[in-house]
Amino acid sequence: MKPPPFDYHAPRTVGEALEVLADAGPEGKVLAGGQSLIPLMNMRLAAPARLVDINRIGALDTVAADARGVRVGALARHATVERSAAVAERQPLLRQALRHVAHPVIRNRGTVVGSLVHADPAAELPAVLALLGGTVRLARHGAPERDVPADEFFLGPLESALQPGELAVSAFFPALPPGSGTAFCEIARRHGDFALAGVAALVTLDDDLRITTAKVACIGVGPVPVVVDVSAECARRPAASADWPAVAAAVRDRVEPEDDIHATAEYRRHLTGVLAERALRIAAERASHG
Ligand SMILES: Cc1cc2nc3c(=O)[nH]c(=O)nc-3n(C[C@H](O)[C@H](O)[C@H](O)COP(=O)(O)OP(=O)(O)OC[C@H]3O[C@@H](n4cnc5c(N)ncnc54)[C@H](O)[C@@H]3O)c2cc1C
Repeated sequence: MKPPPFDYHAPRTVGEALEVLADAGPEGKVLAGGQSLIPLMNMRLAAPARLVDINRIGALDTVAADARGVRVGALARHATVERSAAVAERQPLLRQALRHVAHPVIRNRGTVVGSLVHADPAAELPAVLALLGGTVRLARHGAPERDVPADEFFLGPLESALQPGELAVSAFFPALPPGSGTAFCEIARRHGDFALAGVAALVTLDDDLRITTAKVACIGVGPVPVVVDVSAECARRPAASADWPAVAAAVRDRVEPEDDIHATAEYRRHLTGVLAERALRIAAERASHG
């Protein structure tokens, strides 16, 4: 199918893009990698009257990593972020998660920020942002930029805090505290499909290798990524002797998936427990070997 007709804009600067978006209001949509928007338009599930293509705005094609974390500009492709050694050093969870996002051809074109704004409850990157407590920076014509924390950004399935007229210019993924390890585990029917369930895990150890923080962000089990803090269940035990099955059971008991055509709620809950144990074990192992 072909999309309904639309006006096409291809601004070359952020200022120009913001002017067009302000003028378009609710009729405007940003086109980034197009890997989600174009299929939706072709299926006529989205019909923006004005499309603002940001692919010519070189200033948005940035990835910056330093001791504070990783800032990803709106045009940075999944593949660029996945392959960056500097990103992997400062925030390894990004690479761990990006390997599960679709297929390489889609990662060559799709953007990290586009994936966040799209806010698919089965997508990996919203869970990464939520687990790390990252932010999305939004810009609007004639107004100061605003940084929206992950727990206020994801509002529901395919619904984010981005308002008509706004452009997401970047996202920030904070660096890990010392003594931390991360992992991302998921299960999909076929490689590259959206996950039936997935878990991002973060474990932080003190100098005696005792667990100070353990938390996960689960995908596919709610309208937005579900963050579960299981630090209390770990009871400051040494990572090597933690009761991971009991900790994972606590995660499983705190998610409330629903039945859909792909899986029953009970099956998703079961998968989440299995994946939580797997991801927490790997994260703790990585934290131990620093
Ligand atoms: C076959 C297939 C499999 C896939 N599998 C997965 C998967 O397993 N996991 C996964 O996470 N994703 C998957 N995707 C989606 C893919 O990762 C997309 O790239 C991503 O979701 C959106 O990024 P994009 O740059 O292509 O955004 P676009 O498609 O261009 O835009 C998506 C939405 O975000 C808005 N938007 C984008 N950028 C901005 C911005 N800077 N400011 C304001 N609004 C913006 C658009 O207006 C649109 O509403 C899959 C896609 C396909 C086609």
